[in-house]
Amino acid sequence: MVQTVYPFGGDAAHVDTRQRDKTITGGKGANLAEMASIGLPVPPGFTITTEECVSYLQHGAEFSDALREAVAGAVGHIEASVGKKFGHAGDPLLVSVRSGARVSMPGMMDTVLNLGLNDQTVEGLSATSGDERFAWDSYRRFIQMYSDVVLGLDHGLFEEALEIAKEDNGFYADTELSAEDWKALVTEFKGIVQTEWGKPFPQDVNEQLWGAIRAVFDSWDSDRAKVYRRLNDIPGDWGTAVNVQAMVFGNMGDTSATGVAFTRDPATGERAYYGEYLINAQGEDVVAGIRTPQYLTKAAREAAGAKPLSMEEAMPEAYGELARVFDLLEKHYKDMQDIEFTVERGKLWMLQTRSGKRTAKAALKMAVDMEADGLITREEAVRRVDPMALDQLLHPTLDPDAERNVLGAGLPASPGAAAGKIVLDADTAEQWVERGEKVILVRVETSPEDIHGMHAAQGILTARGGMTSHAAVVARGMGRPCVSGASGVSIDLKTRTLKIGYQDLNEGDEITLDGANGQIMLGIVPTVEPELAGDFGTLMEWADALRRMKVRTNAETPDDCKMARQFGAEGIGLCRTEHMFFDASRIKAVRQMILAEEEAGRSSALEVLLPEQRADFTAIFEVMAGLPCTIRLLDPPLHEFLPTQDSEFEELADTTGLGVDHLKRRAGELHEFNPMLGHRGCRLGITFPEIYEMQARAIFEAACDVKTASGEAPIPEIMVPLVATQKELAILKALIDETAQKVFAEKGTSVEYLVGTMIELPRAALMAGEIAEEGAFFSFGTNDLTQTTLGVSRDDSAKFLAPYVEKGIFARDPFVSLDVEGVGQLVELAAQRGRATRPDIKLGICGEHGGDPASIAFCEKVGLDYVSASPYRVPIARLAAAQAALK
Ligand code: PEP
Ligand code: MG
Repeated sequence: MVQTVYPFGGDAAHVDTRQRDKTITGGKGANLAEMASIGLPVPPGFTITTEECVSYLQHGAEFSDALREAVAGAVGHIEASVGKKFGHAGDPLLVSVRSGARVSMPGMMDTVLNLGLNDQTVEGLSATSGDERFAWDSYRRFIQMYSDVVLGLDHGLFEEALEIAKEDNGFYADTELSAEDWKALVTEFKGIVQTEWGKPFPQDVNEQLWGAIRAVFDSWDSDRAKVYRRLNDIPGDWGTAVNVQAMVFGNMGDTSATGVAFTRDPATGERAYYGEYLINAQGEDVVAGIRTPQYLTKAAREAAGAKPLSMEEAMPEAYGELARVFDLLEKHYKDMQDIEFTVERGKLWMLQTRSGKRTAKAALKMAVDMEADGLITREEAVRRVDPMALDQLLHPTLDPDAERNVLGAGLPASPGAAAGKIVLDADTAEQWVERGEKVILVRVETSPEDIHGMHAAQGILTARGGMTSHAAVVARGMGRPCVSGASGVSIDLKTRTLKIGYQDLNEGDEITLDGANGQIMLGIVPTVEPELAGDFGTLMEWADALRRMKVRTNAETPDDCKMARQFGAEGIGLCRTEHMFFDASRIKAVRQMILAEEEAGRSSALEVLLPEQRADFTAIFEVMAGLPCTIRLLDPPLHEFLPTQDSEFEELADTTGLGVDHLKRRAGELHEFNPMLGHRGCRLGITFPEIYEMQARAIFEAACDVKTASGEAPIPEIMVPLVATQKELAILKALIDETAQKVFAEKGTSVEYLVGTMIELPRAALMAGEIAEEGAFFSFGTNDLTQTTLGVSRDDSAKFLAPYVEKGIFARDPFVSLDVEGVGQLVELAAQRGRATRPDIKLGICGEHGGDPASIAFCEKVGLDYVSASPYRVPIARLAAAQAALK
């Protein structure tokens, strides 16, 4: 029979491979067992497997008898290890219950502490601890937490009762309440449970335990967890494990404490222990941001100019033990660790360790440092950095010379600059973003219910919470700039107004955040482009040495090309020439060209466009000197270019000398029901060859001119879009070759060039063998190939694809990450057939998927020669290509 419950710590001797496997015992459970096995102080406990969660959810939320038996046995393991009995009135065992999925997943049930307390055991705890106040404080905390996370009651009711009790007594801090005060509150809390839940607070400790286990399992399918899974591509069938562990107490007086720490600085990657702790407190006090935590090290305290003693100063022995554990953990896991600990009456206990979340900057620094220390190899360093995280480094930061009207500051919780309109709740954030606004989400503090708003916002500002608060941790994970714990921010949700420092503001006013130093500024502050040097450059060099595929860029302006070259692009993979015509000064000529009924009308428009196109290509060839440039001939969705306004028709009538009515009739004739499947791509070149001829001429003239001027010949690769048949390509290739010969004769010089095609229709993929007879290269246009293979319109998919992903019909949006199973087959088949005809055929991808790491891994698998991505995604693609090559 498969083991469903795994004990760890205490008397549990052996840890097997299943228990070490995060997919079975979850991240938290696997690491607790691992820590116990290397001799670290871990309170004894047990883990119920993720498999049991899946089975529970599949079987109508029923626990099996086998599970009940195994849990009873595992409770016995804890009892034997600590020498206390669960539910015993004299010397009760208390436990914590926590969820723990394969990957850390905010949104699931958090933690229940002090489980096992009831009206009898609280007396036992009071006697054994010798601290009546502590016992009753623990009981009220338990009722409060259990009622919130297991019974689903509003935690505000309990907080309100506590606030009133404090006010009535004239108390300021919780620490002023006596045992008698807590006793009275316990009675009141039980009353709240009776009223709100309709039943008395459960006194049976086993009922308490199973209630908590049930709540963990159920929370896997909570709305919040589902949102998080969708945003992070986590499958719904993983399930979560449950960890039940003997309680240790950080709130047993001034020799006790609780804290969270990182073995290195998660924001910068510096080799410095980093964290926060609170004396005489329980775990949730640190994360909840109710009391302001103290620094871990003396250096950090001094740097911050803070008074309350660091742990290093206040508890030197426990701190020394903690530092020893940090060292062991880093050597064991060969990575930076994020840990939770408790000190109970001077003794250190480890409650959790996991590989720590980090900013991209820190990830780079740690990878490079750990390689230098011999902790990891270069390959491992390259594998360590999430390509998508580079995005954080590639985005602009605030211009240091720009004027800043600083209203206040908080903690620099997540780096980057963000500017936008203030919104005061997550739903508003989402709605405003949908209508095209940029927003900054401002909250007192965030909670898992805010995730969708945090995701939609440019940045996040909170009035409360430390560097390990929900807002800080989640924002860092998402790569959103965040300023947390800005105590000068006060929010009035009723009037939708707020105050930052002395400034009164309304929802909708603009502010800027600097996640690097925590400043909050009025208005929009200008930004500067990032500089990519140091660790970034080192890691990229390592990645470049490891990758096989080349990385090109999708760009059509000299500025974008320059940026892409700085980011390491090795050529242009797609220059969309229709994007060169959106300019107000050119669109008239394009309209004239499109609306002309006769070749003569078209020719006069083309005469206007030729010199402009030539200048475009000249500038691009100059920037991309020595690198291949794939230039795609015109592929306009017609509707984007047709005039719609009367004024536009009138203007065009003036230029062409044709009547407005005539032009309107012609535009009507050109109207299409499905522009994406209409008169697009090479169909335009087939019907109006003079357009492609003009473009080919502009390309060749520019190439010859640049060659003559610089001595270095550009390398144009002319690409024909939306080809379905060999004939289309044959006709257009002949036209391009003929134009080349004409230009070369006129210019008295020539350049090497290639003519190839996009593969973006299923027929083209199927007929790739024949098409390759004409085309020297294929570039997979996976945007259209996805659209045409799935029969899903690129322009209309947004409305229904999100629910498709939620329901698991697609693991990810197929326009973002290639549908490898389906569309991928066509790519693979076309590559094979193309190569069979022309073994040296060049193969690349230029759809949006060229910048998506998962799709890039697929491109490596089928042996493409290069991927092409928008300039900002070029570094992401370089790293992803290296990781793909390492697989
Ligand atoms: C494609 O279809 O994948 C492509 C790159 O072309 P466009 O997006 O311009 O249609
Ligand atoms: Mg296309």
